[in-house]
Amino acid sequence: MAEDTGNLQQAPRHSVGFPDSRGRFGPELPAVYQAWGDITEWVAEQAPSILADDSFPIDRTLLRAPSPAPRQVFAVGLNYHAHATESGFESPTHLPPIFTKYVSSFSGPDTDVPIPAGGNVDWEVELVAVIGRETTNIDEADAWSHVAGLTAGQDISERISQLRGPAPQFGLGKSFAGFSPQGPWLVTPDEFTDPDDLELGCTIDGEEVQKGRTRDLIFPVSTLIATLSRNVTLYPGDVIFTGTPAGVGVGREPQRFLQADEKLDSWIEGIGQLHQRFVTDHPEAK
Ligand code: ZN
Repeated sequence: MAEDTGNLQQAPRHSVGFPDSRGRFGPELPAVYQAWGDITEWVAEQAPSILADDSFPIDRTLLRAPSPAPRQVFAVGLNYHAHATESGFESPTHLPPIFTKYVSSFSGPDTDVPIPAGGNVDWEVELVAVIGRETTNIDEADAWSHVAGLTAGQDISERISQLRGPAPQFGLGKSFAGFSPQGPWLVTPDEFTDPDDLELGCTIDGEEVQKGRTRDLIFPVSTLIATLSRNVTLYPGDVIFTGTPAGVGVGREPQRFLQADEKLDSWIEGIGQLHQRFVTDHPEAK
């Protein structure tokens, strides 16, 4: 789980116990991904007892997304058969829909999320992959070696603005403030028995609404990265939301959306949990 040796976590300011690189690496997380190869080598040289030291307190509310300022963010639609069906679409065969979530929507694992006035706010638990080195036109077999690590994410979506208009507005409808919580840790691929088969799910006030396994991804992580890399260059720190399993609110009969004071708890096996509480964003409704 999240406490395992070697999981790279964001240490809060003034933390003690984490090894000091003596100026070799700075404190800014985006720079960590630029030097990912050097960092992982340096970490491997540290005494396992130091890396395993989880005795220092971590205030999770201070944590941000593990890659808080990526150059690019990719999100994938309809990447589980059952979710494509509940969304009223055929499963994609050559390429799933690819869109973005703007970085201004990024947040850490434990947050309050404002509900936009009149919005139909929905949940989508997703495995999130963070790129560890520049990636252009690679084969599937090489793809995992380009991944810095995996984290848990919620692709929170406001369905009215997402689906309004002559063509859907995925990027905007999924990028309200706080709509991309991620964390709590970045877990390197070697930490998993099988990084292609992780259970993930979420609950609303304790009621399970999504539960799936990443082995059911139509386009698994390696295929997504190889496919994207034929169109675009992926940079260190880039973030990929890999798609959500079945059970979202818009696909239910009757439809269900998140209400103020509801609590959304999400989890991925071997990574950890996200905790979101929804709050009103419009004073007149308070
Ligand atoms: Zn999604």
